[in-house]
Amino acid sequence: MSPAAPPAALYPAAISHVEPDSPAAQAGVQAGWELLRVNGEGVTDVLAYRRELERGEVTLSARDPLTGAEAHFGASWEDPGLEFHEVIFDKLKLCANKCEFCYVHQMPKGFRKSLYVMDDDFRTSFLYGSFVTLTNLSESDISRILDENLSPLYVSVHTANEDLRQDMMKWWRLKVKDPQATRIRGMLERLAPIDLYTQMVLLPGRNDGVHLDETLEHLASYDNVQAVACVPVGLTEHRRNLPELRPYTPAEARDVLRRVHAFQKRMLQERGGRFIFPSDEFYLLADEPLPNSEAYEGFPMLENGVGMIQDFLGDALPTLPTRLDRPRKVILATGKLFAPVLDLAVAPLREIEGLTLEVRALKNRTFGEVTTVAGLLAGRDFLTQIAPGEADLLLVSPNVLKYGTETMLDERTLDDLRAGLKMQVEVGGTNLAELAGAILTGVGERHMPQFGFSTHAVKEAGRQH
Ligand code: SF4
Repeated sequence: MSPAAPPAALYPAAISHVEPDSPAAQAGVQAGWELLRVNGEGVTDVLAYRRELERGEVTLSARDPLTGAEAHFGASWEDPGLEFHEVIFDKLKLCANKCEFCYVHQMPKGFRKSLYVMDDDFRTSFLYGSFVTLTNLSESDISRILDENLSPLYVSVHTANEDLRQDMMKWWRLKVKDPQATRIRGMLERLAPIDLYTQMVLLPGRNDGVHLDETLEHLASYDNVQAVACVPVGLTEHRRNLPELRPYTPAEARDVLRRVHAFQKRMLQERGGRFIFPSDEFYLLADEPLPNSEAYEGFPMLENGVGMIQDFLGDALPTLPTRLDRPRKVILATGKLFAPVLDLAVAPLREIEGLTLEVRALKNRTFGEVTTVAGLLAGRDFLTQIAPGEADLLLVSPNVLKYGTETMLDERTLDDLRAGLKMQVEVGGTNLAELAGAILTGVGERHMPQFGFSTHAVKEAGRQH
């Protein structure tokens, strides 16, 4: 007698919403239940779920985890009506590296757990645009990317010099499933049918200079590589037992920009586009003017801090009143890096009679003063550097909030700021026009964070590596 086949693996997917009158709702499925099977099999993620739906005829099984009650229902060429809490149903694929510049390794303790998750999952790269290193891929992962055409993907290259890449990223041999996946040149070739947006985190004196030139040369030789973003290494004062790293000096930042601009010039002729885009931070560090908006070619890598300032400044200021009916003092609190740019941008509002406007450059006491971007300010930085009642209104960057919430990195909320600072506290807006509106009306914005900018690595969706 042949042994019984092992039971198919299940990956219960928590259901967040059931569309009224949908097949799932009609079968009695409710939010809080779990999807168990599609066409008799467990599904690992929302991509596999959607792929099954594309077959047209599907049968689904869901379970109430509290009572164990199950519902079985079908859908043919229609949406079953389910939404899920997570897009990954099995386990998030974690990184196999120990990059010397990793932001997760230099985070202070005590933040919410999700900020320490070292996501390196090609599925979240496809779904959300988070950067992956590819070093943790198995042969079946690579086949899946190609078979399902998971394009575009976002890849952290850092350098095309294999030895240098290994030295910078220090992958754990035991966590690497396929040694070939650690060879970036080979991987770029294997993923030739997939569009790739790439990034280089630059470390002064390590992968810049001629290494930068050579990597750009190499990446430009692939038609599927759409663009390269280069960002300076982000550092905190919480580096313990890690290799010594330092920030860019202005002269070094200028050297990066010089090389990048020379390459852009060539690419404009050869590819018809600039191909390489330095993050805003490089221009601020180098004290060089930012390119105009057109030079960002549609802002393909905005999330990497590439063009965020021009995107923010892009919308012209609305017509401004000459005076306010009721005088008010407004503080715009941001990181030290962005503060001078913001100060200049809001200067016309200082002409308004009755409006006292201050741009406050906050020191980052959470990560240390070496961290100067707005997106890494925590609630305690606001509470310790603004005095209670010293203004009528405080506007904060939406970038300091966990997406879709009013919660900051250290779990403090805007209500905590309101209570602690005894003033109105609102979100400033995603562009200059919105910010001006918030200053004048005191009504905050609730949009996707883009105002100011974050550095790489600490984003709720683990967007960057
Ligand atoms: S930077 Fe990204 S890939 Fe590197 S160790 Fe950290 S989480 Fe992993």
